[in-house]
Amino acid sequence: MPLLLGCIADDFTGATDLASMLVKGGMTAVQVIGVPTGPLPDADAVIIALKSRTAPVAQAVTESLAACEALLAAGARQIFFKYCSTFDSTDEGNIGPVADALVKRLDCGFALANPCFPTNGRTVFQGHLFVGDKLLNESGMENHPLTPMKDANLVRVLGRQTTGTVKLIPLATVAEGPAAIRRAMTGLKESGWRYAIIDAVTDQHLIDIGEAAAGQALVTGGSGVAMGLPANFRRTGLLPERGESAAILPRMQGHAAVVAGSCSRATLGQIGFARDHAPTLELDVLAMPDAAALAAQALDWATGKLGDTPVVIAASAPPEKVAALQAKLGRDAAGALVEHALAAIAQGLVARGVGRLVVAGGETSGSVVQALGVTSLRIGPEIDPGVPWTYASPVNLHLALKSGNFGARDFFLKAFDVPVHP
Ligand code: ADP
Repeated sequence: MPLLLGCIADDFTGATDLASMLVKGGMTAVQVIGVPTGPLPDADAVIIALKSRTAPVAQAVTESLAACEALLAAGARQIFFKYCSTFDSTDEGNIGPVADALVKRLDCGFALANPCFPTNGRTVFQGHLFVGDKLLNESGMENHPLTPMKDANLVRVLGRQTTGTVKLIPLATVAEGPAAIRRAMTGLKESGWRYAIIDAVTDQHLIDIGEAAAGQALVTGGSGVAMGLPANFRRTGLLPERGESAAILPRMQGHAAVVAGSCSRATLGQIGFARDHAPTLELDVLAMPDAAALAAQALDWATGKLGDTPVVIAASAPPEKVAALQAKLGRDAAGALVEHALAAIAQGLVARGVGRLVVAGGETSGSVVQALGVTSLRIGPEIDPGVPWTYASPVNLHLALKSGNFGARDFFLKAFDVPVHP
C-alpha cells in the first residue's frame, strides 16, 4: 500500500497517541523508533518517533529533517509534525525551529499549528491554550522541569521560536467550517504569514480544520488535529474504506505479563487492583538496589506462574519510597537502576515464553523497547484512550506501552481481554 501520511513525533508516547488516532480513523499505522535506517514498513501512515522534544535545537532539527527525508523517499503525500497538546517547548524551541526547517524543506511557505485535544481538556481560544478551565500557564505546566510553559498565548509562544511570523485564525472563522478555514489559511499564506494558530474547542472544529488542511504539504499539531486527516485521503480515493480492519494485528500468542515502572497515581491504583486478581510481585528496590539481583528475583518468582493470567511485576512505589531511594542513590541513578532492572525482567520474560506484555511508564517503556531491540510497532485496537495494543518487530511480540497516568483501574487485567484479531 502507498504511504499517505508521514509523521514525525517529538516523543515516544506522543507518537503512539497519534498512531492510535489514525488507526481509529481507518488508516493502518506503524510507529518506527528513531530515524529509520532501512526501508519503511508498509502502512497508510508511518509515525517516526524521535526524542527531540527537549534535545538541543540543532539535533532536533537534524533528526526531524532526516525523518522527513525518509518519509518523502517512501512517497508520503503529506507530512505531519506532532508535538504535545500542551505545546511543550521553550523560547529556543524545539517546535518553532523544527517547523521552520520542515517548511523550508517542503518549500510550502506556510503551516497550521494546533495542539488542541478537547477529549483531554486542551482547547485553544483567541490563541490561548487552556488545560481544562485553566490557562496553560496556570495549569501546573508553568512548573514543568524541562519545558515550563509560562505564557498561554500560542501566537506569542510560537512567535518567539520561529524566524517567521504567526497569526491567529479565530474561532468565528473556524465555526464557519472547512471552506472558511481554507480561505483564511490561503489568505495568510499569500500575505507571507508562515504559521496560523487556529482556535478550536470541539472535535468538530478539529475535523473541519483537518478537512481544510487537505493537500497541504505540512500540518503541525497534537494528535487531535490528525482526527480529520484520514477522511481527506478517503475523499480522493487514495485510502480504501478499512473501518476496524485497520487495527487488526496478528493473533496473540504466549504467556501474559505486566512490567510496571511508573509511580504515577493511576499506575499505583492499577497495581492495587492487580494484587487482588493476578500474581503480583512488588520489588523492594530500596532493600536490594541492584538491577541484576532484582531481575533474578523477579524471574525466579515468575517461573511456574506464567500463563493466560498475567504476572504483574512492579518496581512502582509511592512518593515517600521513591524519595527514599532517590535520597540514597540520587534521582537519575535511582531511575536508571529501576529501568535497567525492568528491562532485564522484560527480556527474561520474553525468553520464558511471554508473548503479550504490558509496560507501564513512559521512560520504562523506552528502556524495555530498547532492551528488546524493537524497531517498529504496528498499531492495533485501543485498550483505553491513548493506549493501543501494538505488534513489535522484529521480535514478534504484542506490546502495550502505557504512559503513567493513562488507563482505568483494571487496565492490567482487561488489556488481555481486548481482541486484536477477529
Ligand atoms: P511515568 O509514565 O508515570 O512518568 P516513567 O516510567 O516515565 O513513568 O517514570 C518513572 C520513573 O520512576 C522511571 O525512571 C523509573 O525507573 C522510576 N522508578 C520506578 N520505581 C521506582 C522506585 N521504587 N524508586 C525510585 N524510582 C523509581
